[in-house]
Amino acid sequence: GAARAQRAWIGLPAAERGRRLWALGGLVRREAEALARLECANTGKPIRDCRGEVARVAEMAEYWAGWCDKIEGRTIPVPSGHLVYVRREPFGVVLAITPWNAPLFTCGWNALPALAAGNAVVLKPSEYTPLTSLAFGRLALEACLPEGLVQVVAGLGGTSGEALLAAPEVAMVTFVGGPSTGARVAAACAARTIPCVLELGGKSANIVFADADLPVAVQGAQQAIFAGSGQSCVAGSRLLVQRSLHDRFVEQMAAASAQIRLGDPLDAATEAGPVCNARQHAHVAALVEAGVAEGARLLAAPRDPGLPAGGFWVPPTILAGVTNAARVAQEEIFGPVVAAIPFEDEAEAVALANATGFGLAGAVWTRDLGRAHRVAAAVRAGTFWVNGYRTIHVSVPFGGFGASGHGRSSGIEALNAYTQSKAVWVETAAAPVLGFGHRPAGG
Ligand code: NAD
Repeated sequence: GAARAQRAWIGLPAAERGRRLWALGGLVRREAEALARLECANTGKPIRDCRGEVARVAEMAEYWAGWCDKIEGRTIPVPSGHLVYVRREPFGVVLAITPWNAPLFTCGWNALPALAAGNAVVLKPSEYTPLTSLAFGRLALEACLPEGLVQVVAGLGGTSGEALLAAPEVAMVTFVGGPSTGARVAAACAARTIPCVLELGGKSANIVFADADLPVAVQGAQQAIFAGSGQSCVAGSRLLVQRSLHDRFVEQMAAASAQIRLGDPLDAATEAGPVCNARQHAHVAALVEAGVAEGARLLAAPRDPGLPAGGFWVPPTILAGVTNAARVAQEEIFGPVVAAIPFEDEAEAVALANATGFGLAGAVWTRDLGRAHRVAAAVRAGTFWVNGYRTIHVSVPFGGFGASGHGRSSGIEALNAYTQSKAVWVETAAAPVLGFGHRPAGG
């Protein structure tokens, strides 16, 4: 059904595809509160974060709606007499596999540009958090996207995910998730020689120089790691602080972080919820223990006895004085746990930032403009912030270097990712010289 729906979709005038994606954005806005509550219940994320993410998805639909009738080809002045033009054509059916940490957000982030480029999308959300993706599929129908254009398969990775990767209709894959799963997905794509875009994890360096605006940097460092309880691919999970500032910085950050309100995710005042699931909770706890065993100083507020029993609570946790070779500095924790690492000077900060296989994001906090730009250029990462953290937008390319993946699924780069080029050569010479073969006599 997806292939048939895709043919119906690409058969519509481009502006009509745009109108329907715009309508989908409007439906996401209409259902915003219900979607936010569903996401909140399914993920444990604070409702205010869920509301923000739903609003971003509506914005994505509207952004990509505007692109539908602006995907143009080009002509190339080749040395022969040919007219050469290049068309951008959709792949057909795109498989989008998404993780549990931002289910509706990643669903919109990956499905909407693929749809705008003229593809059908089969969505395989995480088995932990399928609900909002299923709702998205229903809204796509209501927005008059052809039946079957957006299909949601809520199943396990090892069964449904692998079966979809093997489905002959699937012509391209976009994957957001962990590095080891990403490698399996890439291998499955390679075996079928189909392309994939991979957005994997990170171990991003948040670099604070002694000349930074201290209160702002302390607040930024909390935002970088504790937002979403650290279950964010771009989390600033390695906090590199200039040695003269390190101890003061972590003390101030610990004091401020103790004020973060953990609680019922449905309560609008809640700033941090529990981590998403039992497996993740055990993983985070094991890595905190490993960090302490490797010599880190643990700074964390004690568990608030008022928190509901049984939740997967992890208080904001700072592991101070970590060395970059430690497990907690190299492995993705994906929880509200930051490894603070001291450095001496700019050269060491850059060297430490790059001493990881990952390359998703990073930031620098400094008042020295020249240094800000030098460090931004020197750190290997797909996204970098100066005196800020975490902002991303559908109009800006996002993706990883190295083990954080490849390909970009936002900004105009995404239009290249979700289309393939076709070069058309048109002979224009009156008496073409083909160089081989003979004209039929009298012809
Ligand atoms: P995961 O890799 O366990 O699962 C991701 C998705 O892959 C799920 O839908 C899962 O069902 C599916 N899957 C699992 N095994 C599969 C298989 N063999 N074949 C096909 N599909 C399979 O990741 P997760 O634990 O859900 O998410 C956390 C990870 O996602 C973290 O590493 C995080 O950094 C990363 N992430 C990255 C970004 C980014 O944009 N770079 C964004 C969000 C999350």
